[in-house]
Amino acid sequence: MRKLPVFFLIDVSESMVGEPLQWVKKGMEHLIRGLKKNPYALETVWIEIISFAGKAKVIEPYEELPLFYPPDFSIGGGTALGRGLSFLMGEIDKHVKRSSINSKGDWKPLVFIFTDGQPTDNYEAVLSNWEKSHKSKCQTLIATLGDCCSTNLLNRIANEALKIEDCDEDSFDSYFKWMTDSIVKSSVQVSEGIEAKNGLAEIEKNDGLSKIDLNKPDHSNLAVDDNYTVLIGACQKTQEKYLIKYQKGVAYDPANPDDFEKVYRLNGAYRIDYKAYKEMSEDGAHCQVDSRYLRGVPACPYCGSQHAVAVCQCGGIFCIDTSKQEQTCGWCGETGYYGVSDESFSIDRRLG
Ligand SMILES: [Zn+2]
Ligand SMILES: [Zn+2]
Repeated sequence: MRKLPVFFLIDVSESMVGEPLQWVKKGMEHLIRGLKKNPYALETVWIEIISFAGKAKVIEPYEELPLFYPPDFSIGGGTALGRGLSFLMGEIDKHVKRSSINSKGDWKPLVFIFTDGQPTDNYEAVLSNWEKSHKSKCQTLIATLGDCCSTNLLNRIANEALKIEDCDEDSFDSYFKWMTDSIVKSSVQVSEGIEAKNGLAEIEKNDGLSKIDLNKPDHSNLAVDDNYTVLIGACQKTQEKYLIKYQKGVAYDPANPDDFEKVYRLNGAYRIDYKAYKEMSEDGAHCQVDSRYLRGVPACPYCGSQHAVAVCQCGGIFCIDTSKQEQTCGWCGETGYYGVSDESFSIDRRLG
């Protein structure tokens, strides 16, 4: 039986923390459930799910659809798309049977890549490798959240590209529904003995998705995912770690309405599994953000302290207990006195 291999490469960088990651998890559950209802997909489809942030790993190993269960996702730091692609190539080589003179191999793999930011790693070598050895042997579709990547980059990776217009639940639902339809369509084609060319489903209008024209050049090339700023904090009571996510926006000065500046507004603070986070993160990668562009202070998601962005001398961010003056940093354990300051300070910012 010739298999129809389906690989997912999913961005779990820090900017996905909170609801977006829950939507991905739910979307993947719907996708698996939807595919299991389809007799053609049940017969041919094999699936593997790889997630990537600063590093890449298999979160659900290659398995035939009837035995496949949707995975759990955890967050990491960075958007190392190069490392993700490199890992994906290794997995494709390991699992997909190529045709030989004597026997037919598996069907052309379907590869679905999702990313929400510019790559933060040096991907050039991997990408030319991909173009040479794998691109023509896979049917690859990349989806981005908003306009985060240059079309040149998308064009080099994929046969088709989709934009998820807004970061909301309906758009993510449409994306997973579209992937489900595409896999079903391809499995019907291969069951008739036809290679799943143009096997991807049509995009319906007004469902939060749009096709990206890969022949239209542009030159955006940011090293850091600029739509979000993500900081990492440590609770001083529990030493548990949390991510604080800020979303890009603009602030107007009422006195000068024509004048505006880019600011980052608080989205929320989220608990993370720090061990899993470190495993998925780029080593030592960080950059600075100036606190005067940040708007809003979250409560600590562990102890409930109302102020979770105090900055220690060690550079670490931690939650403070406003009922006392003496505070202990959740990172280095140093104790000191903290007052609220209006001065701006630079804070370590994550890359994802
Ligand atoms: Zn706390
Ligand atoms: Zn400290």
